[in-house]
Amino acid sequence: MANIFDFFFVIINEIRSCFVPEKVEYTIEGECKKCGKCCNYMYSYDTYTEKEFKIMQFLFPAYKRFYIKGRDEEGNLIFACKLVTPEGLCSDYKHRLPMCRKYPAKKISYNGKLHEGCGYKVVSKSFEDYLKY
Ligand code: SF4
Ligand code: SF4
Repeated sequence: MANIFDFFFVIINEIRSCFVPEKVEYTIEGECKKCGKCCNYMYSYDTYTEKEFKIMQFLFPAYKRFYIKGRDEEGNLIFACKLVTPEGLCSDYKHRLPMCRKYPAKKISYNGKLHEGCGYKVVSKSFEDYLKY
């Protein structure tokens, strides 16, 4: 059962994630192929246990649409959305979350990659590219 320290820990992590000093900058090209992979396989930056996931859902009731689907080979939790159809489409597209509207994000605070076969691709700037400007 979650205690006050677990709540405190989750809230601190949420706040910390807004102040990451260095962000990766890149551009996104392409378009969505509506495969549904991003709704079926998600990772969370700061949710490692079932207990933390329940606290997140308590703090943000909109996240109740997500459930734990399993773990990857490194033990990280994989989430999925209850609202994605078997065809890979959003069944409540009009009311999808801001995070869904913004995906794939233009900036991230940690390493990330798109799903294999995703219609978007990431074009990141190398150090040499920055020197050209
Ligand atoms: S994984 Fe990429 S192509 Fe597939 S639904 Fe998500 S954004 Fe669209
Ligand atoms: S709300 Fe819709 S777009 Fe967002 S994860 Fe769920 S199915 Fe995908």
